[in-house]
Parts: sequence; structure tokens; C-alpha cells
Amino acid sequence: MVGATPDSVAATVVALGGRRGERSTGDATRGACQECGFPGDDRNSTRSADTVARVELRDEYTGHVDPAGPAARRDLDEVSITKVSVGPMDNNAYVVVDRGTGEALLIDAANETERLLDTIDTVADRGKLTALATTHKHWDHIQSLEDVARATAPRTYAHERDAPELPVAPDVTVTDDDTVPFGNTHVQVIHLDGHTPGSIALLYRDPRGTGHLFTGDSLFPGGPGRTTSPEDFTSLMDNLEGKVFGHLDDDTWVYPGHGDDTTLGAERPHLPEWRERGW
Ligand SMILES: [Zn+2]
Ligand SMILES: [Zn+2]
Repeated sequence: MVGATPDSVAATVVALGGRRGERSTGDATRGACQECGFPGDDRNSTRSADTVARVELRDEYTGHVDPAGPAARRDLDEVSITKVSVGPMDNNAYVVVDRGTGEALLIDAANETERLLDTIDTVADRGKLTALATTHKHWDHIQSLEDVARATAPRTYAHERDAPELPVAPDVTVTDDDTVPFGNTHVQVIHLDGHTPGSIALLYRDPRGTGHLFTGDSLFPGGPGRTTSPEDFTSLMDNLEGKVFGHLDDDTWVYPGHGDDTTLGAERPHLPEWRERGW
């Protein structure tokens, strides 16, 4: 194993955790994504979405990747997780590979089809992409869904409440406690209603019991994803507290749909403050 140990990775992420104070509600942030609330470039960015097809792979995982930069892979006991940033909104796509069989799961075919396919071929093989899960329906997470699905023929997964707005109807609609299998392993679905009605998080539990949670835009370092009404905010916070923070340990690693990774332990102390501020 070449990747960093969990402890050193955790230390790195704590050291990198500088986004907390910078985050705002999205609308007020210049260039923020109006839908996701992530303070990246806007959708009119002049950067081409397909400028760099070849993806360099780093076997050094800190939880941070740069737009158009290398992908980063961490090896766990039974799977590897590779994170790559694609598109003008710095969307994170994740390739989770079952190391025993080589079969892979892609989480969010967000953008830059060639970079995604190249990443998959580098860490697995596009012919072994068994599953493609979409965390939610927002435009920035689905730009390559149709092309990647056509090129690789995986089973596609999404929640039924976001499914009607996806460019590819999911082969399987999923909700709480459903699983998405690939190779000899799987991730578990957690439905988080709020950022969108059909947003899902995906939980992988490693053999030591540690959780690895892919949260889409429902949970970031520094707060929940953007919501557009008090009811949606309350729903998202209730779901996060009830289904995520209430059930999973502090060492659960969080892989968000934009920006750097975090842990539930780093975010948990801030739950009351998020409730109080209302976003
Ligand atoms: Zn987003
Ligand atoms: Zn979103």
C-alpha cells in the first residue's frame, strides 16, 4: 500500500480545513453555483470542460484535488477510492474499486467525460465499471452521465424523486437501506431530502468498521448543502442528524461533491450553530 495512513490523512485534512469560514449561502457569493451553493466558478465559466483528457494519478491522498489536476487514490483494505475534480464547478467524482475483482463504482459522472473515462481506465478498467450512482439531479453532477453510461454500460442508480430530471433514467431507483453492489462489496444508500428531494449519500464500511460517506451536495466541510426554503433546510438537518450523525462515528470519512474531504468528528460540534444560523 502506497497511500497515507488514516491518521496522517486525518491530520492533513484538519490542516487543510480552511474553507469553513469562507463558505456562505451561495447566492451571496460571487461566482457561486446557484443550485449547489458551492463557491466555485459559475456555469458560464470560460474554461473548457474537456481541455485535459489525460489524468495523472497520485497515490497520495489528502482529501484535496485541484480542477484539471491529478486524481488522488487511497488504498483501503478491500477497495481503493480515487477522487478527481471535473468541470467548471470543481465537481468531485469518485471511483471506488473492489480490489479483489477490479469491479468499480463511479459516483457522479459530473463532467469531462474523457477525464472520467481515463481515470476509470487508470485505476480499474471501463469494462469493469459495474455501477454508476448519481447523488442528485443538479446539472453540475450529471453532465457526463449519458456519455459515460453509453461508453461503459454500468447499472445506473439514483433516487426516484430526482430520477425524472436525469438525462438517463436510472436502471435502479434506490432509497434508505438499499445497496449498490460492485464486485464483492457494496455501498449503502442514505436518502437525505433537502438539497434536492432525491439527494442520496452512499456509505461504504471498511472491514475495520470505519465509514466512508459520499455526501454529494448534502454535507460539506462547514455545513449542509444549500437549501431554498426553511422547510428544506429543516428536512436536510433532520436527515443529517437522524441518519448520519446519529448513526455514524466521528471517524467516518466524508467525501463531498465539491471541495475537500472532512470527517463527521470535525463537523459534529458545529451542528447547533448550523441550526441556529439556518443554512
Ligand atoms: Zn454541486
Ligand atoms: Zn447540488
